[in-house]
Amino acid sequence: MSDTGWARSKGDRAERDGLRRGAWYRVVEDKGQSWVVLDVHHVEVRVPKDDVEVRSERPAGWSVVHAPYLVCPGCHARRFVAGQVKEYKCPDCGNSWKVDWSDRA
Ligand SMILES: [Zn+2]
Repeated sequence: MSDTGWARSKGDRAERDGLRRGAWYRVVEDKGQSWVVLDVHHVEVRVPKDDVEVRSERPAGWSVVHAPYLVCPGCHARRFVAGQVKEYKCPDCGNSWKVDWSDRA
């Protein structure tokens, strides 16, 4: 299965659609309309494109949400991380990801 892409809420704009701020969700369908269909915890949710940021590659770094809060690209856990570390291991899923402190979600 090839990935269509990944999307996350622009700020808190897509929170009303069930997207946690800073978390990336897999794009299930993007037919060039004004919306995309995302896999939000195994539920397909249609979200206006204007409310999300879409990328083609699978995210491999933490999203910074209200620093120093980070959101895991693997399991969507939100963690408080003190100090501007370059890499941080998620206590929830056990994966290590890089931290780009300029990547504000
Ligand atoms: Zn995690």
